[in-house]
Amino acid sequence: MTDLPHADLATLLAQPYDGDGGAITPPIVQTSLFAFADYQAFEDRMAGRSDDPIYTRVQNPTVAAFETMMARAEGADAGVGFASGMAAISSTLLAFLKPGDKVACVEHVYPDAYRLFERLLRPFGIEISYHAPSAFEDDPDLLKGVRIAYLESPSSLVFQPLNLAKVANHARRHGALTVIDNSWATPVFQRPAESGIDIVLHSASKYISGHSDTVAGIVTGSSDHIGQIRDLTLPLLGAKLAPFEAFLLLRGLRTLDVRMRRHQETANLFVDRLAKLPQVTRIHSPGPNSVPGLTGRSGLLSFELAPSVDIVRFADGLEHFRLGVSWGGFESLVLPAQVTLRQAGEQNAPQRFGVSDRLVRLSLGLESADDLWADFMQALTKSTG
Ligand SMILES: *Cc1c(COP(=O)(O)O)cnc(C)c1O
Repeated sequence: MTDLPHADLATLLAQPYDGDGGAITPPIVQTSLFAFADYQAFEDRMAGRSDDPIYTRVQNPTVAAFETMMARAEGADAGVGFASGMAAISSTLLAFLKPGDKVACVEHVYPDAYRLFERLLRPFGIEISYHAPSAFEDDPDLLKGVRIAYLESPSSLVFQPLNLAKVANHARRHGALTVIDNSWATPVFQRPAESGIDIVLHSASKYISGHSDTVAGIVTGSSDHIGQIRDLTLPLLGAKLAPFEAFLLLRGLRTLDVRMRRHQETANLFVDRLAKLPQVTRIHSPGPNSVPGLTGRSGLLSFELAPSVDIVRFADGLEHFRLGVSWGGFESLVLPAQVTLRQAGEQNAPQRFGVSDRLVRLSLGLESADDLWADFMQALTKSTG
């Protein structure tokens, strides 16, 4: 089903699994291998004359149920699950790149994706350049000679959105493959395939799971593109999704639509009220239609605080917001950018892309918006000098 109208996504996500004996959720098929009835069935499978599962590193029915639902949600032919969002990203890039290839990446990309480019792919002879959204949209020759345009819309920490249809058009003219990380918007608020983007991937650890209990990834696209990943990097790098985690992700998907709408309501309240505060100098939270195809606002946003606010006291003063990385769960989180700017180790994306040390990111969870706002205000008042 590749022509699902946007409004029907909630119906798709609520569709029962339809298993044996009328089971409406899938069994967790916790097995490593699948035995064959006889020699002929075994040989048929090995020779590619059937497609029964052989081994859970490449195929598993519980994982397949999740992959199919995500593919349909994104309006794609096929999907492939991974052990993490980073496994989804690295396995996708390595399936299509070879030494000498060029990648054009959007600036403010997810920090570990940046490290993957700089620490692993560049030493293997892949050329990487970083560009602002405006360059991707307005420079028709940016993607000349480029193998992969690696996109995030909106990007990490500062949430710059991209006009995906424009980028997809330029890419098609130059024969570049477009890959987007759609973790922020989810298919509820953005379906990049409808704008002509080739491959859509997610850190399913975030909104897809929604419950902060799983680390996982998913890639969706055409049968050819997903087939190439399934054939090459899924088996050979081996970062497969586990059946139990696939079960948790399917369970998360059932409520994705309602959760996203709740996150959006709370985010709208915060954006309206943040805009009126003298201590807030800038808000980063793209709203619906800030670019074509983006139809909602997720609960992950950031803002910049005036020098009158002590950011350490502010973060420590919050009661409903836990301090931590990740996002997209039921619980609200705060991440002051200055922590990530001070992260030890090589290749720091927030430093490279010039994120302000006055920036604070919030992941607004599923608590009452009024409780969250009251908490935010008491912490802000206490920390303003
Ligand atoms: C968290 C995150 C990732 C990495 O996902 P993992 O599941 O942690 O490996 C990738 N992209 C974005 C935008 C993220 O926030």
